[in-house]
Order: sequence, then C-alpha cells, then structure tokens
Amino acid sequence: CGIVGYIGHRDAYPLIIKGLHRLEYRGYDSAGIVLYDGNDLKLSKTKGKVSDLELRAESDKNTFGNVGMGHTRWATHGVPNDVNSHPHFSNSGKLVIIHNGIIENYEPLKQELIKRGYIFKSDTDTEVLINLIEEVKKNENCKLGKAVQIALNQVVGAYAIAVIDVDKPDEIVAARLGSPLAIGIGENEFFIASDATPFIEYTSNAIYLEDEEMAIVRLHKPLKIRKIKDDSLVNPYIQELQM
Ligand code: GLU
Repeated sequence: CGIVGYIGHRDAYPLIIKGLHRLEYRGYDSAGIVLYDGNDLKLSKTKGKVSDLELRAESDKNTFGNVGMGHTRWATHGVPNDVNSHPHFSNSGKLVIIHNGIIENYEPLKQELIKRGYIFKSDTDTEVLINLIEEVKKNENCKLGKAVQIALNQVVGAYAIAVIDVDKPDEIVAARLGSPLAIGIGENEFFIASDATPFIEYTSNAIYLEDEEMAIVRLHKPLKIRKIKDDSLVNPYIQELQM
C-alpha cells in the first residue's frame, strides 16, 4: 500500500507511475490514479499490478495533467477488485481521495450517510470517509481543509490520506495518523508520498508529517501544517534528504 501525489508543472502521470513502482515493495493488490487534465478529474484503477494500471490508464487515454495522485491498495474492507480500488470519488463527483489504513468506525458513519441519501459503489471504508468529508463540507459550508479536519475528528482508525477538490485543483489536502506520509517541497511544486523515494530525484527538501497532522498543499502558497485535533499551526521541520 502506497500513496504518491503531485502538484506542479511536470507531467504528473509518469512521475506518479514511477513513484508507485518504487513503493511496490510495500505490497498491494490493486492500483489507481486520478489526474486533473485542466478540466476534470480523470480516474483509472484496476485490480492487479502497477503495470496493469499503466495499460488501463493508457487505454483510458488518462495520462495528461500536472496535478494528480496514485495509490496502491492492500485491501482491508472489500475484496480486491476494480471498484474497491482507489481513488474513490464522493457522491457529487467533486472530491476524490486516496487512503492507506483503516477507518474502524466506518459502519455507523456509513449508515448515517445512507440515511442522508448517500449511495455507495464500493465496499470500502475509504468511500465512507470521502462522503463524510463531502457531507461536512456541505453542512459547514467550509473549505476542503476544514472539512477534512472536522471529518477526521469523527474517525477512529489509521490513515494516510490525500484529497483533491475538482473546484480547487491547485490544492491537495493530506493527513496522517498511524501510516507514514512525506511531503517533498520543490520550486512551485509539491510531492506527497508514503516515503521519499518517489520524489528524491526532484527535491531534497522534505517534511515528514507526524501523527495527527494535516497539510494543505497549494501552488504558489506557503505550505500549512496543522494539528488535526486542535487546529494549531505547526512550524514545519524541513529535512535535507541525502541522495
Ligand atoms: N482500508 C482501505 C481499503 O481497504 C485502504 C487499504 C490500504 O491501506 O491500501 O480500501
């Protein structure tokens, strides 16, 4: 299971695919990618290997964009199949998530969302989380970062997540509790990954998120890291990676 995200000026597709290959050692049963092509978020995902994902994405003609994220899944809730693979969209189709870890209290959250009219396509705990984020965002009428924060405070479990909103495609919101997440900082570009191997050739500046921290990664804006629990700002500690 692994995560790779990118936002910047490079071709995101080859970078994300190469990064997913580097994370293959972590083990996985499925893989997926979402790319913002300048207009829409395009999804390709499949049970199988990253090389199967490459075939799928190429046949979907989904290889364009400077913003995107990819995932390798180690199934915990829902069998390994194409539908249960990540990324997962919210019901509106506007929000998309990748997630490593487990949402332990997904069942009561899911039942509550179903009562409010949400429909679930997959059997994953992850699809519950992205719809919870959507519901919070709608009810609180807040920004994505705030909605992710409020939702995560209702969640019991472990996660490394990254979320994109199609209406704000110059931003990725990432958070961790119990699963690793590193952020690479380049010049007007950011990388998000389970470890630094997907981005070490592009930048030697990295921040390792601590448990219960979230990052709001925006182009042309300073990186903001906050504590999920109390919203306090964290002074990011930037590490110099050794090549
Ligand atoms: N619990 C999630 C799922 O089963 C994420 C698994 C993972 O860590 O890849 O889809």
